[in-house]
Amino acid sequence: MKTTYNFNAGPCILPKEAIKAGIEALQDFNNSGMSVIEISHRSKDWEAVMDECRALWKELLQIPDDYEVLFLGGGASLQFCMVPMNLLNKKAAYLETGVWAKKAIKEAKAFGEVVTVASSAESTFNYIPKNYTIPADSDYFHITTNNTIYGTEIHYDMDSPVPLIADMSSDIMSRPVDISKYALIYGGAQKNVGPAGVTFVIIRKDILGKVSRHIPSMLDYRIHIEGGSMFNTPPVFPIFIMTQTLKWVKNMGGVEAIRKINREKADLLYREIDRNPLFKGTAAKEDRSVMNVCFVMAPGYESLENDFMDFAKSRGMVGVKGHRSVGGFRASIYNACSKENVQALVNCMQEFEKKHK
Ligand SMILES: *Cc1c(COP(=O)(O)O)cnc(C)c1O
Repeated sequence: MKTTYNFNAGPCILPKEAIKAGIEALQDFNNSGMSVIEISHRSKDWEAVMDECRALWKELLQIPDDYEVLFLGGGASLQFCMVPMNLLNKKAAYLETGVWAKKAIKEAKAFGEVVTVASSAESTFNYIPKNYTIPADSDYFHITTNNTIYGTEIHYDMDSPVPLIADMSSDIMSRPVDISKYALIYGGAQKNVGPAGVTFVIIRKDILGKVSRHIPSMLDYRIHIEGGSMFNTPPVFPIFIMTQTLKWVKNMGGVEAIRKINREKADLLYREIDRNPLFKGTAAKEDRSVMNVCFVMAPGYESLENDFMDFAKSRGMVGVKGHRSVGGFRASIYNACSKENVQALVNCMQEFEKKHK
């Protein structure tokens, strides 16, 4: 196979072990003579995968007993609407830290009053707003912990006077999380925990049942809790790969060990961005994401942007282009991206510097 250094933002790099287990199960699942996608989702063998997946989530993130873990379809984008549909009575508060947060806000507005407590839109979302007040009469407060497009991240589990809801699509499982600070956490799997097609929702059960509107069954968290994420046919193959990905996280030593490696990777790359006169980071230093590293050509070197893109490509780098809405470069260095991969990008930046300085 060709050597590539995969920095895609999502779908993105996954552990080789998870892919390998997926290939095997696609051909012959548990020596059944059938593929994992050919068996009933009500079979014992499948139930065992669901149980293992749930157990791994609970173990790795130390999820307390009053929470459920759901595996749904629809992506994080459906959660933008399911969250307010299930939880917004009158008023909800949102922190606007990027395009994903904006989309969540837009959906919520269909269900009630939405207060945007703070926004960093005026500076292209390159920092996390700090001083704001969460209205105590809001039904919940919604945050996006990692802003995939802008490379900013909320690195801590904050206190909130009202139930805290977080879109953790792109930093889930990258660090330990104090789940008890959150009422609900959701995300698409395709950044850090699996392939596209499955959405995780970690939910504290006592927040449900407080709105009076009619909720269609497929959009009602209570129905999915009752059905053990099998009210309808779940996305079986994505869940299978997610389970293998979580097994890999566990084998790596769990989220605390992963956090340490992630910090080393991010430090390595940010150090080079700060040192190399050709490049400049775009996110406020204290808010820099450990998962998505965004940078541009430094002033005076702007005309080299396409040259660096081509140079990086020629060295096997994939996905280093910034999101179309912001330009520049973005290296996504999710859990499965090794330190060697990051070092390869750093080497590439240093070689480029030698050629052009
Ligand atoms: C990718 C991403 C989304 C969108 O996820 P889908 O599963 O494609 O709907 C939402 N929020 C964040 C923070 C993301 O990174």
